[in-house]
Parts: sequence; structure tokens; C-alpha cells
Amino acid sequence: MRPQLLALALFAAACTPSRPPVVTAPPPAPPRPEVVVTMVIDQFAAWIAAERLPLLPDAGGFARLRREGTWFREMHYMHAATDTAPGHSSLYTGVPPRESGILANELVDARGERYSILRDDATRVVTFDGPADGAASSIAILRVPTLADAVREQRPDAVIVSVSLKDRGAIFGGGRRPDATLWFDPRRDSFVTSTAFAQAMPAWATPAGTTAAVTALRAAPWALANDNWVQEHAASSDDNPGEGDLDGWGTTFPHDFTRSRRPGGALRASPMGDVAVLDLAAAAVTGARAPGRPMLLAVSLSSNDYVGHLFGPDSWEAWDQLRRLDASLARFFDRLDAAVGPRGWALVLSADHGIVTLPEAPREARPWCTPAAPADHWARPCGPLTRLDPDAIARELQEAAVAAVGAGAWVRGVADPYVYLTPEATQLPAERRAQLLAALEARAQQHPEVERVVQTLTVPARCDEGESVESLLCRSIPADSGAALYLQGRAGAFFDAGYVPGRGASHGSPYLFDRAVPLFVRAPGAVEAGRRVDEPVPFTRFREMAERLLGL
Ligand SMILES: [Zn+2]
Repeated sequence: MRPQLLALALFAAACTPSRPPVVTAPPPAPPRPEVVVTMVIDQFAAWIAAERLPLLPDAGGFARLRREGTWFREMHYMHAATDTAPGHSSLYTGVPPRESGILANELVDARGERYSILRDDATRVVTFDGPADGAASSIAILRVPTLADAVREQRPDAVIVSVSLKDRGAIFGGGRRPDATLWFDPRRDSFVTSTAFAQAMPAWATPAGTTAAVTALRAAPWALANDNWVQEHAASSDDNPGEGDLDGWGTTFPHDFTRSRRPGGALRASPMGDVAVLDLAAAAVTGARAPGRPMLLAVSLSSNDYVGHLFGPDSWEAWDQLRRLDASLARFFDRLDAAVGPRGWALVLSADHGIVTLPEAPREARPWCTPAAPADHWARPCGPLTRLDPDAIARELQEAAVAAVGAGAWVRGVADPYVYLTPEATQLPAERRAQLLAALEARAQQHPEVERVVQTLTVPARCDEGESVESLLCRSIPADSGAALYLQGRAGAFFDAGYVPGRGASHGSPYLFDRAVPLFVRAPGAVEAGRRVDEPVPFTRFREMAERLLGL
């Protein structure tokens, strides 16, 4: 209390001796951590967390989070296309793709080629040597503000840093005006940024973000951290059919980096990719943090996604990835302790989407399908698992279009789960265009792996609050998306991720195995320790918790 206020209070108390003064103490403000870390583990399904985290060692990062924080077992996305860009953008904006505009990972260009939804030809890649040739990414396509934007507006002095293995993992966390938004470029084998965010790499990113640092991480092959533990839990063998061999990286342990023709790609698809990101994040905590200024550190760990795509979530690789990620997190938390003390940092951790079993995995990988098993809480499929080829579907639809409205190039391409038409098709007179769309819808609906086809223009103007597939679809499609059709596969059918065509597993469906992710919040003094919440919470909880911890 300021001296004048104290004097006034004493004066008031002295003048009213018959009634004691009413003291209404404000509730104690929650302790404000010096560093708030938001972390997204790519492809970390709620079902994986529920079943596998209890199997990890007590000294690991997840055991620490379970002891010191609250574990919301089931956070639900409210959109249908459960992919990385829609997931990250939903977490950091608090709104679904319909409002954010981030409807998918990729769009289709005029030549029918897929490209990243964040690619921005007006920007250039920025390396440690400065701006270089080649278009980079930006946040320009995002229609709404992010958590980081709100931080920047309310605390202009805040330090905002975002790091990831991929641009779509970094950009939403850092927002429009970060101090640094950095991601790994596998072609350059080094971390980079974009002229959308900076003209130079930050000084603190040397050496952690350089080629020398990532090369050092590849010095030894990726070997199992604990053979017995992996073999005890993994349902399949190390060389299970269906696993993808990325440029010579191999499908069995040990994975020797020197065998890969693209070592940068192999780094991402190994636990060392996460180590690279966490080393850079730790460098930001010591190098970019400024006393008295709040720090938002957004970390996106994507190795889990590459490993799951290539080998499937049941593989030896996926189990070892989880175990090594757990150890890497424990080390990162120790580094945060050393920098700001255990009460000086808080963490909000979640995932961008889930995953489904590898199609070729043995029957034991799906214990929920045994006759005696109860109905699966996560809606995991028991029918055949299949990969959809987006280019084959595009060709089929083009044939159907010609049959319906005559010769011409009508279908531009498929960037899952959307079908795009050519300008000639969109400019057809209304009646012929309707005829074309009806023919495409009918043909797509005949596909044995397609559950539902939606003409995007028929999506209602207002979406209801529910979690039916119709409601999820409604919240997925922006009113002016540019896409013509939405293709929803039946449960267990997924679009081929394409890292090794015809191999591996993927996600992207509206079902709970893809749509439910865990949420951890660790904030000493502000969030209950050792608690588990089993009731589902909506995806908006991630941003709400982060805002609370940042004092917004
Ligand atoms: Zn993925």
C-alpha cells in the first residue's frame, strides 16, 4: 500500500471506532513464472499417452509432469481434418479452421502441385549467412490473432521465441511479431527463418542451430535405448512389413545416419531431431531471455510424427522414440530449473493430432479388436486399414468430370482431404457447374474407402456446438476455402503421408483416435500437482491455460 493510502486507511479506521473496518483483501495473484513454455508433440494421441506414459521410467520427463502438474487425459479438437497445420493453428488461436483459414497442411497450385499452406512467395529463407534464394513461409494466410500476438500487444517487451523441426510447427507459436521463429530446413541441414520474421538469425542460435550441431547429433547411429523395454511392449517385430525406408535410412535398428541419402530428413525421423530442437530452445532460455521481461517459448517437437509416419505407432522405432523423448524432456526440464529455478517456469504441453495403427501391423497391435474387448473408448478401427492415394483419386474424379460435362481439364488436384477444381471448372455457368459437382460427389462417394463427401458450398453458415461428424466438418471448412469437395475416409482409411509412398501410417480423420490428444499443465502454485482429469476438455483449454500463466 502506498503511504497516502495507508494514511487514509488509518484515518478512516480512527474515525469509525464503533465498527471495525471491513478488510477485503484481494485474492493472491498466482505466481507469475518467468518463462512460459508451450510445447506441442506432433502426432501424440491421447490413446498413446493413456496407455504408454504409465510404462515410462520415474526419472523421465512425463513422470515429472504427472507428479508436478495436471494431466487432462483427453483434449478434443473440434475440427475434422486432424493434421499439423490445422492442429497447431487451433491451439494457438483458440478457433477452428473455419475461422482461422488453416484448413489443411497443403493447398494445390495452378499446375495441380501440392504446396505448403504457409508458403509465401513474397518471402525469402534466412540462413546463418543471411537471406538466401528460395521462397520461405509466413503467417500471412492466418486470419486471426495468435496467443503470441496477444502477448506482444499486452506486453510489448515480452521475449517471444518459437522453435520447431517444421515451419508449420514454428509459425503459429511465434505469431506475427516474434523475437525469433526458427525451424529446421532438411535441405540446408540447419535451422532457418524467413524474411517474414527477421533478416538475420539470432546470435544465441549459434552454435545450437547450425549444421555443425546437427551433424554432431548424427555421429552415432540411432540404436535402442533399452532393448528389453521396447521388445516387451512393441506389438510388432523390428522389420514389420509396411514400414517405410526413407532414402536408405532403413527399417531396422540400428539406423545408421551415414546410410541415408538425405541425412537432414533422417535426423527429423529420429529422436535426435527433438534433441536438436530442445538444444535450440535451451539456448533461447539462456541467450534470449531478459530479466524482468516475460518470456513465451513455443516448442514444437515433430520427430514423433516422422517416426510414426514411417514406421507406424506400433513399431520398435515408435516405442524407442517415446522413451528417448521422455529422457530428452527430463533433461530440458533440468535445464529450465538451472536457468530460472523450478518455480520460475511453467509448461502447457499438448499435441496437434493423433494416429492410427500401421495397416500391416500384426493382429496383436489392435487388442481392442479381440472378441472379448469392450467397445473402444478411442473409436480405433477393427476393419482393414488402408492408404488413400490423393493423385489416383484426382485422376478418377477428372474422368468422372469429363463424362459429366465433356472434355476439358476440370479437376486441379487433391490436397487431402480437399478436392480443388480448375479455374475453367469454377467459371462454368451455374447449371453446368452444379452438374459437374454432383458428378464428382457421386464418383467420390462410390470409392469403397470414402465414408462421406461434402460439397464445401453446402456447409451451413453457422455450425452447432456438438461433436458429430457434421459439426466437425462444418468447423473445418472456411466459407471461402477455394476447395470444392471434402473427402472423409471411413475409419481406418487415411491419405498416404507420402514420405515413402505406399508405406507407413497417417492421421487426418475426424475420429477420436486422431482427434483426442493429451494436455499437461505444470505451473507450481497455480495448477494442482499430481492430478489427472478424465473428462474431455475442448482444444481451447490450451490457449486459455497459457494466457492465464502469462497473465493476459
Ligand atoms: Zn503427421
